Amino acid sequence: MPQELRNLDAFAETKRLIVVAAHPDDLETMCGGTIYQLAQRGIEIFSVNCTLGDIGTSDAGVSRPALAARRLEETEAAAELLGIRQTFNLGRPDGELLPDLALRAEIARLYRLTQADTLFTFDPFWTGQIHPDHRAAGQAALDAYMPSKMPLYQPAQLNEQGTGLGCLERIFVFSTDRNPDVVVDVTAVYTQKIAASLAHKSQFPEGEANLDWLKEIDGSIGEKISVTFAEQFKQIDVW
Ligand SMILES: [Zn+2]
Repeated sequence: MPQELRNLDAFAETKRLIVVAAHPDDLETMCGGTIYQLAQRGIEIFSVNCTLGDIGTSDAGVSRPALAARRLEETEAAAELLGIRQTFNLGRPDGELLPDLALRAEIARLYRLTQADTLFTFDPFWTGQIHPDHRAAGQAALDAYMPSKMPLYQPAQLNEQGTGLGCLERIFVFSTDRNPDVVVDVTAVYTQKIAASLAHKSQFPEGEANLDWLKEIDGSIGEKISVTFAEQFKQIDVW
């Protein structure tokens, strides 16, 4: 029997969404079309990038701090296009991300601070997850879920104004090929997805010509539900 796929309705109860990624441009390329549609529905969206993306160039003459600064600006420009409320960057060096206890605590703090009810992150368990930063970001984001809800974990975080215990209720992973069960049609908002991706000019200097690979991925996901472009997720059961 074919697997039953859900669409945007999978996020019907979401009010505050946090996306934990590794690099500037991950969110936009992996799930920008879904994010845009959720923002249009009035959902508050928070974006977390664990690294500065400061090795993301083939030009050895660029300094890492200069590239990092540029990528932070590009992140803000893309966030504005998608309707993201707030962005955070945890400042880790690109290419060296580890799902260590410090990263877990920093992500848990953001769950507590944003009071997000839904998490999007990389699937760290997909065997094709070849980028170590993607694997680490997904692992740390999942690892932070449980302790963020416990009052004796990093209790000093709870003294910050506006912060409460973590209240995530739903987790969806992207960049996965492990029986994704949510497939979102992004055809109608593909222009916005492409525009947000291209806000990362340092990554796609030739504009849309640099995004053939993305259209190919989104097009093949779209075939599953007979639309031109789609994005897919797998829900992780939590309690
Ligand atoms: Zn990435």
